[in-house]
Amino acid sequence: MSHLKKRLTVCVFCASSDHVGEQFQDAARKLGTELALRNMVLVYGGGNNGLMGVLSSQMHEEGGTIVGVIPHQLNDMGFGYDRVSEMIVTDDMRTRKTIMEQRADAFIGMAGGFGTLEEILEIITLKQLEIHTKPIVILNTDNFFAGLLEQFEKSMGERFVEERFRSLYHVTSSVSDALDYLERHCSAKTGSPTG
Ligand code: AMP
Repeated sequence: MSHLKKRLTVCVFCASSDHVGEQFQDAARKLGTELALRNMVLVYGGGNNGLMGVLSSQMHEEGGTIVGVIPHQLNDMGFGYDRVSEMIVTDDMRTRKTIMEQRADAFIGMAGGFGTLEEILEIITLKQLEIHTKPIVILNTDNFFAGLLEQFEKSMGERFVEERFRSLYHVTSSVSDALDYLERHCSAKTGSPTG
């Protein structure tokens, strides 16, 4: 086993809304702290608003490494967080998503709105198509995703989705469990011992 452990880069999809409940902000803070403590690199939408802002400022306070990927339109509107380690400004939303996907070793979807839901569903779809094989966690804070998960089950029940594709994603409400899962599954791929 190599002693040079590669830092894991985790892409987090999360809300731009500033009006969400304290439980979601707590989860974003906890995730920011844990990512920094575990020496993981954060890749995210680059925003200073909503859960993106809570997550990135917490991570910055803990001395973590943050990569923001933002389209120039949102950056020009002042939505970019200025304390990132690296900010990649893209021409459009699509290029931005592609870069986020390429830079990440693993993905976490937190509670969010249309943008977040679209990002989570796309990353699962790309895995289903074997365009990538990276671990994906749905962080189910306060059972936020109950409705979506029920829809997934319905889609499997009606055979729109094969049952085996349930394993494309891992669902948990615990930040530590989410990161343990990502660590296990990324190290499994590099041949290191799994936990
Ligand atoms: P939503 O869940 O609709 O709030 O959208 C949040 C997701 O879409 C994030 O994961 C971002 O990648 C992207 N996004 C939406 N709004 C912004 C914004 N103002 N700044 C940066 N990214 C955004």
